[in-house]
Amino acid sequence: MNGEYVGKEDAKVSVYDHGFLYGDGIFEGIRAYGGNLFRLHEHIRRLYDSAKAIMLQIPYTPEEMENIVADAVRKNALEDAYVRLVVSRGRGNLGLDPFTCKTPQVIVIAEQLSLFPKELYERGMEIVTVATRRNRSDILNPKLKSLNYLNNILIKIEASLAGVSEALTLNTEGYVAEGSGDNVFIVRDGELWTPPCYLGALEGITRHAVMDFAVDMGYVVHEQPFTRHDVYVADEVFLTGTAAELIPVVKVDGRTIGTGSPGFHTLRLLEAFSHHVRTDGVK
Ligand code: PLP
Repeated sequence: MNGEYVGKEDAKVSVYDHGFLYGDGIFEGIRAYGGNLFRLHEHIRRLYDSAKAIMLQIPYTPEEMENIVADAVRKNALEDAYVRLVVSRGRGNLGLDPFTCKTPQVIVIAEQLSLFPKELYERGMEIVTVATRRNRSDILNPKLKSLNYLNNILIKIEASLAGVSEALTLNTEGYVAEGSGDNVFIVRDGELWTPPCYLGALEGITRHAVMDFAVDMGYVVHEQPFTRHDVYVADEVFLTGTAAELIPVVKVDGRTIGTGSPGFHTLRLLEAFSHHVRTDGVK
């Protein structure tokens, strides 16, 4: 916390922190594989982009921040880790004005990774589309990874009520945007499709990595708008994210996708992903 190592039980922030009072802050979720921080540079860049958009001055340079994250993983003697990096506006008064907060809080939590159940990757997951929409025209669009994740939480609540653990959202025009915490891909005739992020999706770093190595593997990748219909009739569907990596989806709104089992291309990409994350990182 702010350059000091603090035990888990003693890591506390003020109730006057505007991150707590108003969701005024930003964050990143980063993963280490065998001590390699996967695409750290891209995560730190996205953090500083988010900071710039909300006029939050991070008291470190991006290079210093990269070292802080790497040190937190080392200090906890972690190999495979999940790192949560949070920068909140800091302590102020009860009013909205962010400029009453003089010192941002920089918090890095490095934890042992808790993996998603293996069967999710073997059997694939069922998801639904939900009524909660993505906003794409505001500054507070999903490109900004802010501490204000209520929209995503509403998506999760709708998913839970439908008896599944993840959902797809559409934007206000009805185009598919993303999941509550993942990006989405569909496969049709051996080609990949993913919505362009301007439709209302976070520019996921896993999404980017998958696009990079899929192209290297000879896949055609379309970054094009598509609708729920295209998802229903896809041969394969999968989600990507730092925590989820690449998760096969086998049912959407009750429609079976492809054969109802994780598809050939999804499994091939998942295998390539496992290799890629161990070779493309910062020690
Ligand atoms: N979309 C949202 C809303 C997210 O919160 C995340 C997770 O960070 C993603 C997509 C996936 O992005 P990444 O691959 O950078 O983890």
